[in-house]
Amino acid sequence: MQGLIADIDHFAVHDGPGIRTCVFFQGCPLSCKWCHSPNLQDKQANILFAANRCIYCRVCEATCPNNLHSFDALSDDDPDDLKHIFDRGACSFCGMCADKCIHGALSLSARWIESDELLKELLSDKVFYDSSGGGVTLSGGEVLSQAAFAAEVLQGLKENSVHSIVETSGYGTSSNLSLLADYADLFYFDCKIFDPTAFCDYAGGDVKVIFENLSMLRKKTDAIVLRIPMVQGITDLPENVSRVYEMALELGIKQVHLLPYNTSAPAKYEWIGQKYELGALDSDKEHYMYLMSIAPDMLDVRIID
Ligand code: SF4
Ligand code: SF4
Repeated sequence: MQGLIADIDHFAVHDGPGIRTCVFFQGCPLSCKWCHSPNLQDKQANILFAANRCIYCRVCEATCPNNLHSFDALSDDDPDDLKHIFDRGACSFCGMCADKCIHGALSLSARWIESDELLKELLSDKVFYDSSGGGVTLSGGEVLSQAAFAAEVLQGLKENSVHSIVETSGYGTSSNLSLLADYADLFYFDCKIFDPTAFCDYAGGDVKVIFENLSMLRKKTDAIVLRIPMVQGITDLPENVSRVYEMALELGIKQVHLLPYNTSAPAKYEWIGQKYELGALDSDKEHYMYLMSIAPDMLDVRIID
């Protein structure tokens, strides 16, 4: 079976214990306003354009069959002082311009891959997993959106004794989540916002689906860590974080991770021609320490850098 993946990160050390290979799935049904990988939200591959890497060689202009790359002179005095205009509207995502751009200004955000081909690549790092207590982390985007493909990969990892983690927002069907739970060793399960209205406003979905899925998942496994992405004034409010702590205790989940705000997120919005709506937000270690301090004693709360 084929899956659409955006990237494979070898030797990752921030996505679980030990040395890991992290696979980023393309496509997510949510649209969190702070998303640090907005390029992974589309269900299809997109063209990323990092304008600061463009050297105005104009190869893309000559390559695109739809004439979507053009160059305007910024001043009459200097015809070489150019602005690169990328008209995304009629893009078929054929990737031809990205293939030709050797300067890394244009790239295709995702590619299709067979599950056995992906598995082969993941198993090539097995010696590092075994020596470090690591394994493979499936992340996104949203893994649940390609559950059948993910399950094939997870099953192959299990058969080869490779530890696996699924990072998920929990937003998908319970049957898909249940399928992944048959093979995954550990779930990193996002708990972003407790309040249904705020969740809908900031993430674009129904938080009830997530709570129901979490409850179902907990009945199948206790290998769950809840994770709260820290977003100033939105998710990092003490009342929001306390509700997640309470829910963890109610479900018998022992560990919660606080994920510091990623200040590099806004730049990625420019790559896909979008605007970052939240403005400049802080990553406030002191506040995260405070949020750790209000956790109940029986809960293991960690700040994950
Ligand atoms: S091929 Fe790449 S570097 Fe050259 S003009 Fe196009 S985007 Fe810029
Ligand atoms: S991906 Fe294809 S259609 Fe889109 S801009 Fe590049 S060459 Fe043109």
